[in-house]
Amino acid sequence: PMNHQQPVARVKNICTHCSVGCTVTAEVQNGVWVGQEPSWESPINRGTHCAKGAAVRELVHGDRRLKYPMKLVNGQWQRMGWDQAIGEIADRMMAIRQSSGPDSLFWLGSAKFSNEGAYLYRKFAAFWGTNTVDHQARICHSTTVAGVANTWGYGAQTNSYNDIRNSKTMIIMGGNPAEAHPVSLQHVLSGKEMNRANLIVIDPRFTRTAAHATEYVRIRPGTDIPIIWGMLWHIFQNGWEDKEFIRQRVFGMDEVRAEVAKWTPQEVERVTGVPGAQLRKVAELFATQKPATLIWCMGATQKTVGTANVRAYSILLLATGNVGAEGTGANIFRGHCNVQGASDFGLDVATLPAYYGIDETAWRHWSRVWGVSFESMRARFDTPQMMHTPGIPTTRYFDAILLPKDQIQQRDNIKGMLVFGHGGNTVTRMPEAQKGLEKLDLLVVADPHPTTFAVLANRRENTYLLPICTQFECDGSRTSSNRSVQWCSKIVNPIFESRTDYRVMFDLAKALDGAAQRRNMPIRFAEEMFRPYEIANGEPTAESILREINRGAWGSGYSGISPERLKLHQQHQDKFDLVTLRAKDDAPAEIRGDFYGLPWPCWGTPEMRHPGSHILYNTNIPVKDGGGSFRPRFGLERNGTTLLAEGSWSKDSEIRDGYPEFTVAVLKRLGWFDELTAAEKASIAEVGTGLGGEDRVSWMTDLSGGIIRVAVNHGCSPFGNGKARAV
Ligand code: SF4
Repeated sequence: PMNHQQPVARVKNICTHCSVGCTVTAEVQNGVWVGQEPSWESPINRGTHCAKGAAVRELVHGDRRLKYPMKLVNGQWQRMGWDQAIGEIADRMMAIRQSSGPDSLFWLGSAKFSNEGAYLYRKFAAFWGTNTVDHQARICHSTTVAGVANTWGYGAQTNSYNDIRNSKTMIIMGGNPAEAHPVSLQHVLSGKEMNRANLIVIDPRFTRTAAHATEYVRIRPGTDIPIIWGMLWHIFQNGWEDKEFIRQRVFGMDEVRAEVAKWTPQEVERVTGVPGAQLRKVAELFATQKPATLIWCMGATQKTVGTANVRAYSILLLATGNVGAEGTGANIFRGHCNVQGASDFGLDVATLPAYYGIDETAWRHWSRVWGVSFESMRARFDTPQMMHTPGIPTTRYFDAILLPKDQIQQRDNIKGMLVFGHGGNTVTRMPEAQKGLEKLDLLVVADPHPTTFAVLANRRENTYLLPICTQFECDGSRTSSNRSVQWCSKIVNPIFESRTDYRVMFDLAKALDGAAQRRNMPIRFAEEMFRPYEIANGEPTAESILREINRGAWGSGYSGISPERLKLHQQHQDKFDLVTLRAKDDAPAEIRGDFYGLPWPCWGTPEMRHPGSHILYNTNIPVKDGGGSFRPRFGLERNGTTLLAEGSWSKDSEIRDGYPEFTVAVLKRLGWFDELTAAEKASIAEVGTGLGGEDRVSWMTDLSGGIIRVAVNHGCSPFGNGKARAV
């Protein structure tokens, strides 16, 4: 008999159900996803899946996919063509812009975008002329970002799932990885079994994770901070803190000590319900059985005091010297598969991509990267001031729809909403939002599945459902919780009439141009926004978007992470060590020395081949040689401005005339350098080069573009507040 079967192709993508980043190897035959297995080569999951990952094919071929564009007509969904849908949506968007201004459209993105999709969506909102762009991190881990970034710099996990195997003591608080991040538990349990590590689970519920604990601590809900303060009370009382670590690298610990003194064992037991003897035991284990790590998830962060919880955890890590080395650190388990990347690329009301913020220097930087003038970008906003005003966050959009105009910050109420999704379904968490949705002049939900966003709103018209591809039907990269970036290859062509995010944004930009022309409005989108990209099959390629990210995203260290490097990592997954994530000696020369997925920061250009940063803040080397420090190196004050200095841009190359070159460049730009006293100059010389060696630097500088950012007042103090100032 004739055989029409094509050979089975094996294509790698990653599971989209959580932030661990397990590789899925799909078997594709005749264009159909016919089989699947967990990748045996991936250093992240090594042949394992959880039940969610094993069912990931259902996301594509499941019977609940949206098949074609639809709109509500008199409360009934009606099928329509793509051209008509995009044309009508563009027309309504322009009508809203004309009557109410650009801030009247809410751009809700998703933690399930690819990096390139998230970046493009933020860029689109910028070209639309608004900072009202957000995603679900607002209500999950944004408190983590604020807590750790204000404590030590980066708003991210310091170590990796794999590195947990090196820990001697692990505390899991506010998380249940046995159910939420199951494959991560293999690293936790390996640490427990191979290292005889202590596994302490602190949770109000006896969870499946708690069932594995060597010590289970049941606390009253919401008492995380008293628990941490109670542990620190025992640690300080018994002298278990890491005195040398604190002396060299931490500031503000005396203030912590004074605060903690109030939290006696009796008081902590009264508040938390945890017996004093048990807390003493846990404190001793964490402080003395090192290295120790603190693992948390959203049980800690989705609280009104989430940021304070996170700062308390960070302080415990600093007091015990458990940061910046193998087996230590803040291992923060994110939720969705790309919540890290979506945050990195600015789906946030207060920043452009790569955490540049929204001040003038940030806008000048990104305008230059996008190939347009700063002035032309400013002209897209309602007023110049709105360009620098944080937008409306997810938690307040319904207020901005419903409140009287004089109680809202923008010119008019929010009248329209774009929900580009992949499961971004925040409405289910905020019942108040429903009332707001009923009032909108336009609601567009672009998702692979019909979400409750579209069907909960009690609407009869001006509501559109657009079928978007899953991440298995397009190329792109995603960033796992540990900052590793993985390339994800398209497994099958778009199902039914679905289209990729990239294509829909491109088509929408073109339709907006037509709508603007018809209304004699001067604004245009498609030509300027998409000019830098290669267009293939009617859409910009993910590779060309990532190359633009390389040129612009120095701020978070994505500049060295090219599509070519990521594809090589995908191809040679088996050449990376399971624990260190380092490429082994027999790896091909192009990846040798790299850490898997080039975990950011990965500085320089791709050709410079920075290996990525597996562990943030290297505290194995002295501060003066660039080892991690969590205190300002020196403080200078001139004319009411305080500069708490950072270091320079690389730990090897930048001492010039006895001074760290970058610091001096900042001081010269400020006009301060020549006025320094001898003592101040000596303190600069002692600073060494760089806060934590290679970290923090691009926060501050894009020397080619002349942007210099100076981080001020970061450190471990719970009373401090991280800020950045552009010079
Ligand atoms: Fe998917 Fe997370 Fe399960 Fe891995 S652990 S298979 S990424 S849901």
